Amino acid sequence: MDLGIAGKWALVCAASKGLGKGCAEALVREGANVVITARGAEALEATAAALRALNPAVQVRAVAGDITTEAGRAAALAACPQVDILVNNAGGPPAGDFRDWSRDTWIAALDANMLAPIALIKATVDAMAERQFGRVVNITSAAVKAPYEALGLSNGARTGLTGFVAGLARQQKLASRNVTINNLLPGPFDTERLRSNTATIAQKGGQTFEALWESRRKSNPTQRFGDAREFGAMCAFICSAHTGYMTGQNVLMDGGSYPGTF
Ligand code: NAP
Repeated sequence: MDLGIAGKWALVCAASKGLGKGCAEALVREGANVVITARGAEALEATAAALRALNPAVQVRAVAGDITTEAGRAAALAACPQVDILVNNAGGPPAGDFRDWSRDTWIAALDANMLAPIALIKATVDAMAERQFGRVVNITSAAVKAPYEALGLSNGARTGLTGFVAGLARQQKLASRNVTINNLLPGPFDTERLRSNTATIAQKGGQTFEALWESRRKSNPTQRFGDAREFGAMCAFICSAHTGYMTGQNVLMDGGSYPGTF
């Protein structure tokens, strides 16, 4: 299937590794030009080089910076001639007990996982509407549908974004002009973050990493973790020319972990 996005410009945030990188790869394969961001310049440049090798016909620009700051977002937007596709992503907040979290802890989580995506949506959707094409995908978490007890910061901040998006996506001036805003909810994907989280939880519980990793794998109906490439493929499809009639949705990719009928 031709996704119909060759030549479009995509801003993919937090994309030197993991799920963001998977999304950038899939978009580049489809012929989209990309601006990718991350804080660490070295890994970001390596990913940019790999993306250029994947499809020499597209433009790939790398902007090092913190997407949770105004300066980081301004630099990312300045590198993109126009934003046709916006993939919102950032690091997830730490696990812990809400009794230990201060107002500053909460503000940091809200900045990363709610307010940064909203600021980028604000900066881009009206121009998308004028051009009669726009796709926004927010990488959130399966925790929005079924909260993880230890990830209260993530549960709270991402659910705030989800509620906001549910209202905004249905604005007639966006939806009627082929601008869609959807959320992509990862369950357990084999990335650096999942491995480091698993190592932390294993250490706290007096388990080995291997034992916990194996039990997590076996607890998934597919008997495996997700691969960032399959996450990226789903993202690219949601960003395609074929999805103008799907907006305000939460697409769960968790190997069937969530037990509900809907
Ligand atoms: P990852 O493998 O650790 O990759 C995170 C990427 O984001 C890196 O490129 C990192 O580069 C970049 N990044 C982090 N903070 C950033 C910031 N403030 N500004 C710009 N770039 C930033 O993580 P992942 O597993 O792909 O997770 C991506 C998102 O999905 C996270 O929010 C995570 O909580 C969520 N999620 C993941 C899973 C999973 O199973 N993997 C499940 C549910 C939800 P730098 O560190 O160099 O900035």
